[in-house]
Amino acid sequence: MIVALGILAFILGSIIGSFLNVVVLRMNTGKNLGGRSSCPHCKTQLKWYELVPIVSWLIQKGKCRTCKAKISSQYVLVESGAALLFAGVALKFAPLFINGLFSSFILYTILWMILVSIGVVIAAYDIKYQLIDVRALFGLACACIVLGFLDPTHIGILSHIIGAVIVPLPFLVLWLLSKGRLIGFGDIEIMAATGFLFGPTGGFSSVTLGFWAGSIIAISVVAYQSRKGNKETPRQIAFAPFLLLGIYLVGILGFDIFARILGMM
Ligand SMILES: [Zn+2]
Repeated sequence: MIVALGILAFILGSIIGSFLNVVVLRMNTGKNLGGRSSCPHCKTQLKWYELVPIVSWLIQKGKCRTCKAKISSQYVLVESGAALLFAGVALKFAPLFINGLFSSFILYTILWMILVSIGVVIAAYDIKYQLIDVRALFGLACACIVLGFLDPTHIGILSHIIGAVIVPLPFLVLWLLSKGRLIGFGDIEIMAATGFLFGPTGGFSSVTLGFWAGSIIAISVVAYQSRKGNKETPRQIAFAPFLLLGIYLVGILGFDIFARILGMM
């Protein structure tokens, strides 16, 4: 049963991921979201079997069937990423389903899948353009507020509000002192949403995990470039994806490190 839920969510995630790719590619370009997809190189309209998420890209080895032009790995990365994230959400809430709490299962699964979808758009767009889209950020904040109000741990609404204020506070100071050079304001808004979603302990756990993940990647990138003898300063690393990863680690995978530390004391 649990396995079936995970597989269904994986398939749903890959289909939504395929749509999210279109959103990321057409966002702020003036193009609408309708219309069949076509090869960006030769403009041939794609057949249904060329549009199967993940599978088509793998079978065609990342090339267009008509003109053999390379298709960006962004497609398969976003599709498989969303698929895995969706599967994780379904598995996290599967116990509700098994215990017959269907409406709670559907409510939490759908809300978290919406949060994950918006997160994927923000992350992919930030990696591509080093920018956080304002509308996507607004959507993320709304999803965090709704989920914060529905909080199953019942830490009380005041804790959520305190979280929204104190979690981004140190970084707000950093933003003011560096005049936005060390950290973007969009990142601070994500931290405020995170603080509201989890309250102070979960919020700080989430941001801390995001920083650790970001640092590990940054150090790896610098090490890799210096091994290749690349003397250029590494380009700025998009930070939003790591903050969003932190939200997922705490909310879905249960890595609320500070709550555990406090629980041990
Ligand atoms: Zn083509």
